[in-house]
Amino acid sequence: MRITVDFDLCESNALCEALAPEVFELDDDDYLVVKAEHTTPETQASVEQAVAACPRAAIRLEA
Ligand code: SF4
Repeated sequence: MRITVDFDLCESNALCEALAPEVFELDDDDYLVVKAEHTTPETQASVEQAVAACPRAAIRLEA
């Protein structure tokens, strides 16, 4: 699935990075970097956890 983040909503609290570090990472300026455009069978579950955990509902998964 395609991963998108609304950067206007993101507050850079790194919850998604903690759950799916292979996909989400805060850079040195605390700016969220999405390292993969799509989920893989290996990352699907952890990205779904990140979607559920994001307090700003900033992460979207689209078919
Ligand atoms: S969990 Fe949500 S608010 Fe936090 S860094 Fe990730 S996208 Fe941004």
